[in-house]
Amino acid sequence: MKNCPFCQNQNIRKYGVRNNIQRYKCNVCNKTFISKKKLDPIKIWSEEKKIIIFNLLPAMESEVY
Ligand SMILES: [Zn+2]
Repeated sequence: MKNCPFCQNQNIRKYGVRNNIQRYKCNVCNKTFISKKKLDPIKIWSEEKKIIIFNLLPAMESEVY
């Protein structure tokens, strides 16, 4: 279980991903910090691909018609 590096509290939540690194936010002191463990690159890739496809679909449809 992860703790906040500032106040050692375990009351933390995920706060997005940047450069394949999971960010967390402490609910007690409201500071953000990163996990030292890198996420699975394949999982990141598939999630980004999903977002890209999702974002491109409306534009592609409007070009076709
Ligand atoms: Zn904290």
